[in-house]
Amino acid sequence: MNDYTKIGFVKAFAISPGVPQSARVLEVPRPEPGPSQVLVRVLEVGICGTDSEINCGLYGEAPPGEEFLILGHEVLGALDNGDLVVPMVRRPCGRCRHCGSGSQDMCDSGTFTERGIKAVHGGLCEYIVEDPSMLIAVPPAMRAYAVLLEPMSVVAKGLRHAQLIQKRLEWGPRRALVVGAGPIGLLATLTLRMLGWEVVTAARRSGDSEKGRLVRSVGAAYHSVAEAPLSELVRGAGAFDFIFEASGSAQAAFDSIHVLAANGVLCLTSVTGGTAAQSVPIDRINCDLVLGNKLIFGTVNAGLVDFTEGLAYFERIEKAYPGKLQSLLTGRVSFENAQTMFEIQKSGIKTVFTID
Ligand SMILES: [Zn+2]
Ligand SMILES: [Zn+2]
Repeated sequence: MNDYTKIGFVKAFAISPGVPQSARVLEVPRPEPGPSQVLVRVLEVGICGTDSEINCGLYGEAPPGEEFLILGHEVLGALDNGDLVVPMVRRPCGRCRHCGSGSQDMCDSGTFTERGIKAVHGGLCEYIVEDPSMLIAVPPAMRAYAVLLEPMSVVAKGLRHAQLIQKRLEWGPRRALVVGAGPIGLLATLTLRMLGWEVVTAARRSGDSEKGRLVRSVGAAYHSVAEAPLSELVRGAGAFDFIFEASGSAQAAFDSIHVLAANGVLCLTSVTGGTAAQSVPIDRINCDLVLGNKLIFGTVNAGLVDFTEGLAYFERIEKAYPGKLQSLLTGRVSFENAQTMFEIQKSGIKTVFTID
């Protein structure tokens, strides 16, 4: 047993799994690294829809034998020597071939754990302990926006998989649609523009919103679906070779099928926790997919290769569009006003919980 009176207590922000609106600040024993672990001082944690859904009681699981789960899966921390690190979210199940080869994002068994989500405490705590193999080293020059690495890794994985899939043909055209202008949609917009794609980003807000301006500032077009449906987009320049869907809406995901070009690929990333049901034109969708050689795939989480690729994308995006990555961080909270984080996160782009 650890002697917690010696090592003291630290602040954390936690929920009771399954209990809606249970998020609160707690004092927990300062975690002590095991023999193969390191102590990480948490600097910042990005807040996203997953945290809100866990606080609504939709999912989330406490570590074995505990009654609460510390939130926070988009973590930026520092080691003893000051080196910056980002922990990967998903931990290997220890029994499937994908987890065994560093691709725990493709886990077959479903018995993986996830920091801040499933059976492992998150980073909304002054300190965490971590297995060094789960840590990504971050260059100090990226300090200002490195808290975005976890969502960036999701974009990197989606793009990598789309490129692998499209090795099935000569994939020449370069017209992309990003559906959703949350942090993931905007990171996808920045990445695709930096890679030279022609990009349209579609979302609900009006064209003169902060998000609309940001999209246009990197040479992408912005389309407000509140003003005209997605189908309007194909009347002009035609359908899209690649669609990256990150709107959080199954409706938007299905709507985007109809603007996918022949030989195109649609990447779905929205985790939709609801139970909505409605009829869809199955003959038309089926026929479109068959006659157009079209492909739809889902992607979740990311592995080591995608976190590494995410850092490489960061470097190139920062060079191409200086300051844009940092401009995605629109809100700040700390332990003093932790309860307001879900409210603040509803407006703006990315809310960051500052710990250090
Ligand atoms: Zn997240
Ligand atoms: Zn596995």
